[in-house]
Amino acid sequence: MNREVSIRLFTEAQKYLPGGVNSPVRAFKAVGGTPPFIVGGEGARIYDADGNSYLDYVCSWGPLILGHAHPAVVEAVASQAKRGMSFGAPCPLEVELARRLVEALPGVEMVRLVNSGTEATMSAIRLARAYTRRFKILKFEGCYHGHADSFLIKAGSGALTLGVPTSPGVPPGTAADTLVARFNDLKMVREIFKEQGEEIAAVILEPIAGNMGVVPPQPGFLEGLRELCNTYGTLLIFDEVITGFRVAYGGAQTLYGVIPDLTCLGKIIGGGLPVGAFGGRKEIMEMVAPVGPVYQAGTLSGNPLAMAAGIATLEVLRQEETYPYLEKLGKMLEDGLREALEEAGVPGRINRVGSMLTLFFTPEEVKDYASAVKSDTSLFANFFHAMLEEGVYLPPSQFEAWFISLAHKEEDVAFTVEATRRVLRKLKA
Ligand code: PLP
Repeated sequence: MNREVSIRLFTEAQKYLPGGVNSPVRAFKAVGGTPPFIVGGEGARIYDADGNSYLDYVCSWGPLILGHAHPAVVEAVASQAKRGMSFGAPCPLEVELARRLVEALPGVEMVRLVNSGTEATMSAIRLARAYTRRFKILKFEGCYHGHADSFLIKAGSGALTLGVPTSPGVPPGTAADTLVARFNDLKMVREIFKEQGEEIAAVILEPIAGNMGVVPPQPGFLEGLRELCNTYGTLLIFDEVITGFRVAYGGAQTLYGVIPDLTCLGKIIGGGLPVGAFGGRKEIMEMVAPVGPVYQAGTLSGNPLAMAAGIATLEVLRQEETYPYLEKLGKMLEDGLREALEEAGVPGRINRVGSMLTLFFTPEEVKDYASAVKSDTSLFANFFHAMLEEGVYLPPSQFEAWFISLAHKEEDVAFTVEATRRVLRKLKA
């Protein structure tokens, strides 16, 4: 594949942008090489500046569950753009999106719309601290909740990929208020609570981890956390920035039947435009300004353009066939990848929930951060580049989720499985 234009653009980009990118994982540090510069997308495909086409399993890191440039979303955005892009005043569309979120998510009675997942988690933590009058929070190793200071402690996603899960620049005082436990290890959480439970404002987690690669909760884990939080008067926060409207219309809380006190959202609810949200029980949410004293604001929050994209996306997702279709494709991909691994004699594990999946190059079960990082990342890098040459665009890190959209077809999955077969055979040889 010729990537001359991308190579030229990447060189120029590095003059103006640190690392040539605006979000670290895009720089391909974990896999090496030059990232293709993307100029367009349609359905399940993206196109780079050299005219190459790829089947896309990144889907903008999750938001594009309808695929690229879905006609309903394009139409909604275009027609709103003609009528104005931001007013900084209440608009009907933000009420409409909020109503849809409240109707969809059992843990959300009221919601505040923001501009990113990071804003959602950061604000949810402030609210939880104000509500409980406590300062400590408990998070899980390998979970990523955006780049606010409190969360950059043993974080996942790009932070994990770059080997800086704990970032310099986070004040020690802030770091000291973030306790970290092992994902899926209820016993460890119980021990922490025994010592410090009365000081913990909130437990925050991705109910299905997506940022150390996909790691589902083991049976009883979420339920156990719910119980502990009830006992100690701690708020349970589900960061459903990835899982909201991804694993079920009502998110992971609906899938597993465990209801958090607060929920963070992003990605899908903006249909590809910058949006986030945090919501929860009315009694807690009414502490947010201007009703209550917990300050939170945003110039572009609830802007009509992003609202229009989000509403159009949710309207398509509401159709009955959405999640069964995504499950069917997810299972087909999982089964095909497993067969390909077996055929080639390459040890690997596939974790999947619906349309989010990770193929870990490790023979052992992946149930937490420690087991995820046992994966063979140099094998992943070779696999990644060989798949890219085949025209399949995977997330450029072992520790990320692959996403399937409604625009993916069975033929696309079959093509991906065949490409995987060829690549694994070659890598093994
Ligand atoms: N929470 C989770 C679970 C995420 O996956 C992400 C981003 O990938 C975030 C929060 C942060 O969202 P954003 O990148 O929109 O700030």
